[in-house]
Amino acid sequence: MILLRGFRSSLRLLNKKDYYKILGISSNASQSDIKKAYFELAKKYHPDVNKSLDAKAKFAEINNAYETLGDLEKRKAYDNTGMTGDEQEQAKASGFNASEFNGFNPFGNFTSKGFTNNFTGFQDIFSEFGDFFGQGASNHDQSVYQGEDIVLTMEISFLEAVNGVSKQIILDKRTICKACKGTKVKPGSSPVKCDLCGGLGVIVFQKGPITIQTTCKNCQGIGKIIKSFCTACKGTGIAHERHTDTVIVPPGINTGSSLKIKGGGNFSENGDNPGDLLIKFIVKPHPVFKRIGYDIHSEVSLSVSQAALGGTIDVETLAGNIKLKVEPGTNPGQTVKLASQGISHLPPHQTKKGDHYIKFTVVIPKHLTREERRLYEQLAKLNDEKS
Ligand SMILES: [Zn+2]
Ligand SMILES: [Zn+2]
Repeated sequence: MILLRGFRSSLRLLNKKDYYKILGISSNASQSDIKKAYFELAKKYHPDVNKSLDAKAKFAEINNAYETLGDLEKRKAYDNTGMTGDEQEQAKASGFNASEFNGFNPFGNFTSKGFTNNFTGFQDIFSEFGDFFGQGASNHDQSVYQGEDIVLTMEISFLEAVNGVSKQIILDKRTICKACKGTKVKPGSSPVKCDLCGGLGVIVFQKGPITIQTTCKNCQGIGKIIKSFCTACKGTGIAHERHTDTVIVPPGINTGSSLKIKGGGNFSENGDNPGDLLIKFIVKPHPVFKRIGYDIHSEVSLSVSQAALGGTIDVETLAGNIKLKVEPGTNPGQTVKLASQGISHLPPHQTKKGDHYIKFTVVIPKHLTREERRLYEQLAKLNDEKS
């Protein structure tokens, strides 16, 4: 942006000497020729009539040229120094007399002017060429009124997701500069009345039958100009503040779930209308529990005798360890459902809960003690006799 502005600025330097060219006249044209040329061009390029992309910029240039060349005294000063009518006005306001410009070294004059009014010059150029960058300009406007959203990813444990958790997060949020309250103006100073439009924000030309009103390019229609910018924010009105926020994660969050905290995002350039904070979750897997929807699935191993004889075993559930009755003759792959022992649904249905399915596996021993081997052999004999 800075580069672009620099480019625009130098563009203007080149155009500076071209006011005669802009009006399509020679440098020895009479005042009435200048007036005639101006009226014709103003009619042709008035943005109300001419919808071409560069009409507005062209119209502004024509007006600038005529503002200077249409006034004999300003024209003389311009011929001698290269200073535009505006610059002469500003110089006058700071104690120079326009007639004194005659015979001055144009570059000496211009350099000092260019330097002291650097910032005004940029604004000036910006408004003249702003329409070329229409899209960028409208995006900029939007950010003035609505702060940007902040999007972040949060990783939580399986049980934090199931039970809900409150997490502290630290965010560097864009907010308004406290020193100038977002006004961009150096504290203790205030914007001064725009001397080009006298604080009206518009320039009105009344030339014969034509009245033309344009937005003042010096103050961009605001009527005031900031001369001393806030140093804390370098005249942006923006600051970055470290915020510690507590995020209440409701029970039931899953990977891919997201939480929107309204107003938790960056502030707008006006210091209000903050954007939202969007948190996307990643839930770490659990060594025992698997989640399908709001149901929990887990496996529990039985010994051969537990599977055959039944009994009571310890089972891990979301509510802690419980004693689970195993029916005699339980087969591998068989499941037991613990109704409503699963995961709470997300708000607003948080009273609903999923189920917990426990699947049995049976562990067949790989190595048998001598005693175990003897008993299994006895069992085998019994089975043979049965069949
Ligand atoms: Zn500031
Ligand atoms: Zn103004």
